[in-house]
Amino acid sequence: MLCCEHCQSPKHLRITKSHTTVSNDHTQVLKIHEYLKCRECGLEGTATADLESETLDLSGGLVDSPERPRATPRVGGGA
Ligand SMILES: [Zn+2]
Repeated sequence: MLCCEHCQSPKHLRITKSHTTVSNDHTQVLKIHEYLKCRECGLEGTATADLESETLDLSGGLVDSPERPRATPRVGGGA
């Protein structure tokens, strides 16, 4: 799951633009490009999913964090 590096959260990310790269004969999607913006802190980044090699390339302050089923780590604490 994509997270904002600054907010450490996916909650505020919005896809502002996305497009795909297709093979020359247009029968296959090779890559998916997504432009995301965090509405909380204004960070912008791009995510490129390469469907052939099944890799995800991130830039601009996006991080890929494994989705956790439940536990939300509390930062700071406080009584
Ligand atoms: Zn953010």
